[in-house]
Amino acid sequence: MKMEAAREAVETLKLVTPAAIGTIAGLLQDDMRDHPRAVAANYRKAGDQISDAEKRDLGIRKNAFLSREALARLTIEGRLEPLTAHERTLLRATFTLIRGRRIAKEVELQVQLGKAFLGFEHEILGRQCPACNRLDGIVSDAANAHVLPPSDCVAGCTANYGLRPKIDFLADLD
Ligand SMILES: [Zn+2]
Repeated sequence: MKMEAAREAVETLKLVTPAAIGTIAGLLQDDMRDHPRAVAANYRKAGDQISDAEKRDLGIRKNAFLSREALARLTIEGRLEPLTAHERTLLRATFTLIRGRRIAKEVELQVQLGKAFLGFEHEILGRQCPACNRLDGIVSDAANAHVLPPSDCVAGCTANYGLRPKIDFLADLD
């Protein structure tokens, strides 16, 4: 799931190169203890740093951190936002991973509840992306829920929507 989530985020946002898929997957935390912003910042800080002249060329401040490795894995688009390219990619992959885990966890609930379990409802949090907006309120079974972002969700979107179990609390009363 981590590799799949990382691959989707890298290939869709195109801010970092495919060589970074393994890195992004490795930065996805099992316990999600740290915010992806902090995780991505630590990644930028680790290892050989680029020179002040290179920072100037990239338009970033002198005291910003950017490792040679992080720079080497930025695409042309990513070089326009060198300090957030990894972070946004990681965010998108993180949201996918959260959705995947939610479904895996709630499958048990689904068995317990039987017909009272109506499915997973897509809950859209941001409102900028038409592709993600279209999912809002849709209830799907586990197989059809959009764990991975919809295929037409593109540029700039981190697909930060959730999947929530939808339960019919009155189902057993009739
Ligand atoms: Zn989207």
